[in-house]
This record gives sequence, structure tokens and C-alpha cells, in this order.
Amino acid sequence: MNENESIIIGIDLGTTNSLVGVVDSGFPIVLADQNGDRLLPSCVSWPAGQPPLIGNEALRSRILSPGRTVTSIKRFIGRTFADLSEDEIREAGFTVVPGTVGEIEVQLDSETRISPEKISSLILQRLKENAEAALEMPVTRAVITVPAYFNNTQREATKRAAELAGLTVERIINEPTAAALAYGLDKLDEESTVAVYDLGGGTFDLSILQMKDGFFEVISTAGDTRLGGDDLDRAIAQHFIEVLSPGPLSPEEEATVMVRAREAKEALSSEESVIIRFPFFRENESYEVALTRARFEELIAPVIERTRPICQRAFAEAANKGAGRVQKLILVGGSTRIPLVREKLKTWLDLEPDVSQHPDETVALGAAIQAGMLCGRVRQIILVDVTPLSLGIETFGGLMNVIIPRNTTIPTKAGELFTNAVDNQESMAIRVLQGERELAKDNWLLGEVTVPFSPGPRSSARVGVQFSIDRNGILEVLARDTATGEDHVLEIRNAAINVDDEAVERMVSESIDYAFEDMNERIWTEATFKSAELLPAVAEALTLVGSLLPDEDRAAIDRASMNVRQILEGTEHNAPALKAANSALDEATQTLAALLVEAAFSDLD
Ligand code: ADP
Ligand code: MG
Repeated sequence: MNENESIIIGIDLGTTNSLVGVVDSGFPIVLADQNGDRLLPSCVSWPAGQPPLIGNEALRSRILSPGRTVTSIKRFIGRTFADLSEDEIREAGFTVVPGTVGEIEVQLDSETRISPEKISSLILQRLKENAEAALEMPVTRAVITVPAYFNNTQREATKRAAELAGLTVERIINEPTAAALAYGLDKLDEESTVAVYDLGGGTFDLSILQMKDGFFEVISTAGDTRLGGDDLDRAIAQHFIEVLSPGPLSPEEEATVMVRAREAKEALSSEESVIIRFPFFRENESYEVALTRARFEELIAPVIERTRPICQRAFAEAANKGAGRVQKLILVGGSTRIPLVREKLKTWLDLEPDVSQHPDETVALGAAIQAGMLCGRVRQIILVDVTPLSLGIETFGGLMNVIIPRNTTIPTKAGELFTNAVDNQESMAIRVLQGERELAKDNWLLGEVTVPFSPGPRSSARVGVQFSIDRNGILEVLARDTATGEDHVLEIRNAAINVDDEAVERMVSESIDYAFEDMNERIWTEATFKSAELLPAVAEALTLVGSLLPDEDRAAIDRASMNVRQILEGTEHNAPALKAANSALDEATQTLAALLVEAAFSDLD
């Protein structure tokens, strides 16, 4: 079996948005579609007489044909019509009817009925196609996530939907488990207890998980399948309608207000106020509403408050079952981007939420990791989101110049300006190093690029070196001659991040063991540069104005110069001695320097 056949993708089949991920060169990533979008809205639409639209295209057509557009189909998968409450049927946004054996069907028009499984399979099929396009290979196997509260029938139905889409389901895993995997919680202590707060588009759940012997077990889960971002949209839409008071709305107008409400909500997660426009809303009438973060928070607070008793229930149940203290709180779902949610949680649960991941990608990344483990693409899960070792370049004298220190979170970017160390240098070799040692030779050489420049005096060239590491751990080194603007690029694939744990440990402990020697060597090297500047300058000054110097000064200078030379020639790199000798020479040449200045002035006269 070749690698192509064995690849497994990870899928987050969400109520509102779905994503697909994979482990690529050791790292879990979420794949983008051809437009660069990583979130596929879980929406399917059937414009009359046309093939179905999926994702954003389907969402856009909702305003035009609301009855033929299906969203949140996940609410219906694997359930029977008798299960449904009247509210669920009424609020679906499309027509739900009982099928021949009591199953649920969506009625698009008088002739067309379609099952929730089939609708889900269209979404899965699109994810599969997006993955195939991104990976440039066929994909037939997947790991799919489902909510922890899904029963066996719902899980089976999800699996059948995947099969309809041409995917073999290698494993179904719980969404909170996937989230915990993505956070790399398997790296925590032997036993740990974590809470996953997932507030998505239409559902909320809180799960408490316990990690034991490398496995996650869901200890308790509580939720509300009718609570999420949509409710926030409704609260804001209601506010707009009150402010605008346009009278009864048509279904199309209602859909427009909901779309604008959602835009306002998402913008207010990062902005303090927004202005929402309704151009040509009615009879060529345009409207505008301003909304501040404070007012927005008042409007949504009652909805957020509804998650509180649910959290308490799950925490209480976990405690009853003897789970340990919850050590970590993970936020999942697009709606946890809202600052008010984070604030409230902090006070309710007395836990600092971990927000180190994209809340809407966490589950998909976890699914990708599980998939990677199954197909052997992740041998040992190392979810490195920091640089394990420092990265830098070799500078004059064989020293390590760190550009990105170890333990920097990725993605990251940093740079520095370098110059030519000697006159008429024609190029600069940029040697990219990794490691913690002071001397270049003790670190690992990752790659090399040469930057040519037009020869000039020492320190006249300017070369900007920039290191950037993307989220996949790929290091790109860009060296630019600032005089010509010419760029030289070196790409180092994942070596920057993907380092064997043992090698990292060895490197770090060696850097500690040799810290004294290394530091001595750095100071020594830097002191030799100083000597290399001083000695010829002193010799030159002596030929110019040496005859004017009192004998004792002359003798002192000769002694000091000799001392520097002797230390330089010695086999022992005595850094403090060389530094002291440099200073003594500097000191001894005070009179000489003054004479030089005088001579320079008299030349001017
Ligand atoms: P699901 O898991 O239910 O498919 P997601 O986790 O993708 O849902 O969350 C979708 C919800 O997140 C939507 O209601 C969307 O409006 C909301 N959302 C996305 N980004 C933001 C944001 N920046 N601020 C507030 N809400 C957001
Ligand atoms: Mg979700």
C-alpha cells in the first residue's frame, strides 16, 4: 500500500460549519478550499431545476429561496420524526415530514424528499473533494467527530452519511475528545481532568474529560441542542427590528436582518462599535443602525447566562463520579470568540480559559490528529506550537546570532540587519543555525544561502535577514540586500520545529554544561575583534606621530601591544585577560590619540 492510499482525513461535521484536516509532514492542519476558505458552512440549497449548492453558495441563496435551503441538518440526523418537538419542526426553516418507517425527511417541493443522511453526505462529499484538491490525491478514509451526547443511532447515521459520500469511517470520535487532543493535553500529567466548553452556531455543550493511561474518557456532559450563536443573532435582529420598526417583515427581509445581525455580532468580538447598513431595504429606503459593544453585551447576556446552570450540572456530575479538580478549560466553537463569554466563564468557573487555538478549528485539528495516528503519520504526538530550539545565523567570528529564541510560539517572524565585516567583501554567506550553543560550530546547520553585494568598505553593506515560521513549522529565511532590494529566499521545511525530543534535550543540557566555556569563547571572539581593530590603528598612529611621543609613553604602548599579541598567540583562550589587555592598550594610547587629533587639526590649518 502506498502512502496515497493510506491517508486518512479528519472531519468536523458541524451543525453550522464543517472542516477537514489532515496530518501533513508531522503537523495537523486544516485544509482550505480553492477560495482559501477553511470553514465550509453546513448548508445545502436546491435552486429550482439546478444541481444542489453547498457551503457559502448555498448560504447566499438562502435569502432568495429560504424554503429550499437546508441548514443545521445535524439536528435531525439519526433521529425519528416522533422524537421531534413541535418547536423543532416549526423552527427548522424548511419542511420536515415523517418518512415511510417513521424516519425524518426534508420536503423540498411536492416531488422531492431527501433524508438528513443524504444531505449530510453532500457536505461530506464537498469536504472530501476539497481535501483531494488540496492534497492532490484521492481520499477514501476518514475520522469523523460527533457530539459527546450523540447516541448510537446518531453515530451510525453519521457513518452512513460518510459512506454515501464515498468515505470509509475509520473511527468516530467525540468532539470534546478531539478538542483535547488538539490542545496536546496528552502531554499533560499522567492523569488530568479538563472541561471543554463548546458554544457553536446552534448548540451548546460542556463536557468534562479525564485523561488516564493515554486515553480520554468523557466523565460528564451536559448541553442544550437549541442554544448557540443563532440565538445571539436573533437577539440582535430583534433589537434592529425594534429600532427600525419597519412593520411586518417578509421572509426575505427577515433573512437579511439575520445575516446583518450575525455580521454585527462577529465584528463586535474585536471592535468596540459597529454601524450596520441596510441599503435599499424597502421601497428604496436605506437604514443604518449603530451598535456598541456595551449595548450588544446587554442584549446577549441573557443567552450566555443560559449556559451557566448547564456548566454547573456537568461539574457537579463529574464531582459525584469522583473526577479530580478540573485543571484546564478549553473553549471550542465560534461563539467563544465573544469576549463576554470568556469573561463570564472566568468568574463562574474560576478557571482561566485556554485560548491558544482557533476555537472554530480545534475539533477538526483533533480529528486530523486522530486520523494521523491511525495511518501512522503521527508516530508520537508532538503538538509543537513553539520552537523547541533557537534559530539564528552565523556571524563573523563563528558566533551564533539568535533571531528566534527557543520556546517562541509559532507562527512567528523576526529579523535583523547585518553588515559586511571586512572591506571589499563581495558576498555574505547566511548560514542558518539551530541550537543553544554560543558558537556556530556547536549548533546544527539547517541551510545556507549566499547574498552577493557590490564591494565597499567595511560596514557599508546592509543585509536584512528575516526568519518566518508558518503554522506548519516551515521556516523561510529571506535575505535582502537593502541597496539593491534583491531578495534571496531559503525554505527549510519543518526542520525548524520537527526535532526529535531527545536531541532537543541533549542540545539544551549541553548548552548548560558548556555555558561557562561557551560564554568565555564568545567573549574571547568578540575581544579578538577589538584587538584586530586596535593593533593596526596603534601601529599606524605610531608611524604618523610616534616621534612626538615621550619615551616612557612609547615604552608603555609597546609593552601593552606586546601583551595583547602574546595573549592572542597563546593556545589558551583567556577571554578576561584579552579584554583587560585591550583596555590597557586603549589606556596607554591616550597621549598618542591626543597627538593624532592635534595633528589632524594642524593639517586643517
Ligand atoms: P458548529 O460547531 O455549531 O458548527 P461553529 O463552532 O463553527 O459552529 O460556530 C459557529 C458560530 O460561531 C456562528 O454562530 C458564528 O456566528 C459564530 N462566530 C464565528 N466567529 C465569531 C466571532 N468572531 N464572534 C462571535 N461569534 C462568532
Ligand atoms: Mg462544532
